[in-house]
Amino acid sequence: MQKITIIAGARPNFIKVAPFIHAIQKAQELKAPIQYRLVHTGQHYDAKMSDTFFTELNIPLPDANLACGGGSQAEQTAAIMIAFEKELLANPAELVVVVGDVTSTMACSIVAKKSQTKVAHIEAGIRSFDLTMPEEINRMVTDSITDYFFTTTELANENLRKAGIEEERIFFVGNIMIDTLLKNLPRFAKPAVFDSLHLTPKNYLVMTLHRPANVDEGAVLKELIQEIVTNVDELPVIFPIHPRTAAIFSALGIGAPNLHIVDPMGYLEFNYLVLHAKAVITDSGGITEETTVMGVPCITLRNNTERPETCSIGTNELIGTNPANIAPALKKLFEGKWKKGAIPPLWDGHTAERIVAHLSVLKNG
Ligand code: UDP
Repeated sequence: MQKITIIAGARPNFIKVAPFIHAIQKAQELKAPIQYRLVHTGQHYDAKMSDTFFTELNIPLPDANLACGGGSQAEQTAAIMIAFEKELLANPAELVVVVGDVTSTMACSIVAKKSQTKVAHIEAGIRSFDLTMPEEINRMVTDSITDYFFTTTELANENLRKAGIEEERIFFVGNIMIDTLLKNLPRFAKPAVFDSLHLTPKNYLVMTLHRPANVDEGAVLKELIQEIVTNVDELPVIFPIHPRTAAIFSALGIGAPNLHIVDPMGYLEFNYLVLHAKAVITDSGGITEETTVMGVPCITLRNNTERPETCSIGTNELIGTNPANIAPALKKLFEGKWKKGAIPPLWDGHTAERIVAHLSVLKNG
């Protein structure tokens, strides 16, 4: 029996593990000798950042919750490592599967590797080369000790080859987040705010901001938001606010008639809103991939991205974090000059199946 422990800690992780678990369950129905244990580190613990996704995306309840929420980068990393070491000792696995680039990804991969347990990383190899982002450090550390790399793009493969990873350990399987998107597209649900604000398709924008560079300094956040709301032709801007951003936002006294702050939304309602939006303004990584697949214009307030295909192939454009770049980007959007974009190879909804097929070969190989 192949025993796998799957790690999930934060919102984007839940969206990535859902199809993986469903593909394992399907393999189990076909009598594949594979067993999994789902460990939630507790990094995101707010119901709106965690529980909602388990219910909506039909993710089984975690077998263990390490309850390691809050704290600084180091405190959280340490807490997760201490708790996961105990967890793995009590419940040994042959393989620990980590996803994405959050603190839990890095902390659990270190613990697994030091316990002589093989590590697989889903969404391996992507790089922004920006070490001011905690996520980039998480990616680099994780990939330096990963055994099996499941990648989303050819560029990720290339990054890994350049780091000296042998071809046999790189598996180009596509984008697992898009499995979730394509599977749930028919289930997208109109949020209450759509009717209460009398929104109509392509007549509003969606905004999400949570990266430290944009939200940790009140004056920066204020300027960015003011520049956005005054350059959107008075269209409503819906802003589901990340807890990190909410912590600073309330003290800033930002308000505009067309700015609508809402709580973080469930996956099905959020993506309904994105699908019908005129454009999305964001600093998220995952959202740039989802807008690319849905063909929705995406303006990214970052200077770099670990997902350059969303720009070179998709609908995303990086405009940096300088507020002066916002008005020209929105002008282009409102003049109807935004690029159309296409979908990168293997972002086709079958990534999880490919990963599970590889796992059985790894076991027998
Ligand atoms: N998302 C959501 N509700 C929201 C905002 C985002 O369900 O209110 C989803 C979004 O569709 C995507 C993921 O959360 O799948 C992105 O998470 P986040 O931006 O926190 O992380 P990043 O991708 O930047 O690591």
